[in-house]
Amino acid sequence: MAEPDPITVAVPHVPRLEDLGLARDRPLVIVDVDEVLGMFMRGFGNFVTSQGYEMRVERFALLQSIYRPGAAEHLEIDEGRKLFQTFFRAHCGEMDVAPGAIEALARLATRAEILILSNAPAEAQALRAAWLRRHDLPHPLILSSGPKGPITAALTAQSSGRSAFVDDLISNLDSVAEHAPATARFQHVADEQLRPLTPTRPDLHPRIDDWKLLGEAIEQQILR
Ligand SMILES: [Mg+2]
Repeated sequence: MAEPDPITVAVPHVPRLEDLGLARDRPLVIVDVDEVLGMFMRGFGNFVTSQGYEMRVERFALLQSIYRPGAAEHLEIDEGRKLFQTFFRAHCGEMDVAPGAIEALARLATRAEILILSNAPAEAQALRAAWLRRHDLPHPLILSSGPKGPITAALTAQSSGRSAFVDDLISNLDSVAEHAPATARFQHVADEQLRPLTPTRPDLHPRIDDWKLLGEAIEQQILR
């Protein structure tokens, strides 16, 4: 029998867990896509290259990492932004899964509800949902924007179980710490080139870049 399509919901409104197919009485694990489940930097870099540009991963500033071949100055930000938008509109399904993510989430899903929360343009919805489905990540997807604390608080408040949140960006982790302090937070950066460049606050948000270890740490937090 075919798997049902993952439910995709474009916020602003906060969906009810049951409308996403999620139980309120099990732990809730909220997981990001780009640089957590998916190798965004590599996928976007391949797209940028296919358009005749170079991606130089030398600093933590995406749109300032795109260059015309051989150029000393990065591409104009507006031009970079157009590439970014085109990638999400048409090419964000062309991205590898982070190593170990599928196995770790499959294991967690036996003990918890999994919800994918991605800050991406609404036009990425169909491609992103299809990408998840194709890679054995059949979990509901919410596309959002802005700091993730408020929506995480509204989602976890509906659950009687413990909760956990995984993201690569400190801004989202800080926001969840502020708005949903009871939710266990973890930072994960999938791309090896980005790892040393990504701001991190391990005293506040444990940083675990290996999905096997991350899955075990989440399990310990939500099942204790
Ligand atoms: Mg991300």
